[in-house]
Amino acid sequence: MRERREIPVLYIVVPCYNEEEVLPEAVSRLTEELKLLQSEQLISPKSSILLVDDGSRDRTWALIESYSRMMPGVGGLKLAGNSGHQAALLAGLLHAKESADCVVSMDADLQDDVGAVRSFVRKYREGFDVVYGVRGERSSDTFFKRFTAQSFYKFMNRLGVPLIYNHADYRLMSRAVLQQLERYKEVNLFLRGIIPLIGFRSVVVTYDRGERFAGESKYPLRKMLAFALDGITSFSVRPIRWVTLIGFLLFAVSIVVGCYVVVRKWQGATVSGWSSLMVSVWFIGGVQLVALGLVGEYIGKIYREVKRRPLYHVEEMRQPSLAPELETS
Ligand code: UDP
Ligand code: MG
Repeated sequence: MRERREIPVLYIVVPCYNEEEVLPEAVSRLTEELKLLQSEQLISPKSSILLVDDGSRDRTWALIESYSRMMPGVGGLKLAGNSGHQAALLAGLLHAKESADCVVSMDADLQDDVGAVRSFVRKYREGFDVVYGVRGERSSDTFFKRFTAQSFYKFMNRLGVPLIYNHADYRLMSRAVLQQLERYKEVNLFLRGIIPLIGFRSVVVTYDRGERFAGESKYPLRKMLAFALDGITSFSVRPIRWVTLIGFLLFAVSIVVGCYVVVRKWQGATVSGWSSLMVSVWFIGGVQLVALGLVGEYIGKIYREVKRRPLYHVEEMRQPSLAPELETS
């Protein structure tokens, strides 16, 4: 390994929403991993874990608080309400950036292989600014989840959005990237779309994705669909163009149909007319409503962006403490 960079201070940012069941295991595995990497002099002893409580209703924050009190290298950030995964992640990233040279973002449920952090850091030290964790195989996900995810990546790529295939939010970013990320002031946040836009040297690391350690997915189908729609409409206006195109097409068809009707009328053929009328009224009505809804989706986005409301509110912050031998020195 050619090391171009000094030993970095690494922060692992973990958004947590009602994760009391997995948190103890997640924290112990992550601290183990950090200790290991520190002993191998891959990362600085000041490296830490930053747990972001996204307004959980269970004992998540109580746990985070006690960990940060008892364990060196564990910090916590409490958001005042449930702001959603992306906003919670951003909150953590921007906080971590103050103390870290590079930050890894990861879910609390241990679906992402903790061991991949080592390869992430290696790549960082080789000079990469973004390391994307990509799921090698997804046999632990249901067929439905895999299918919908694949369709989503394909659709996004067709729209011209440079998404990394099979990459969620498990990635390493250098401070320089986070500084650029901070300049994206969007309310409709879709981080995995923004990071490739920022550029910088990036590389992909493959890992195996396992089962959720415990608890339930916080992304039911409803949220998943909303997230996908958000991703699409936040990054592309092409759907609106398609709607316009469909509009033109229907317009052309209706002219042809209109001519036909007039000719038939001249020929004196009395058309009973009811069926064709009903069909076209319903059809056009449907198309119009879809079009209107889509346009509305974008207007809704503009509305939210224009208001510039903050994405999250930090209620409490617990800075990670250093290991005792470091504090005295
Ligand atoms: N999460 C969050 N806020 C939310 C929903 C989820 O911070 O409103 C966190 C959650 O605790 C987990 C991560 O986001 O650490 C990903 O959620 P989950 O594992 O439930 O999603 P899935 O992997 O099923 O897509
Ligand atoms: Mg998960």
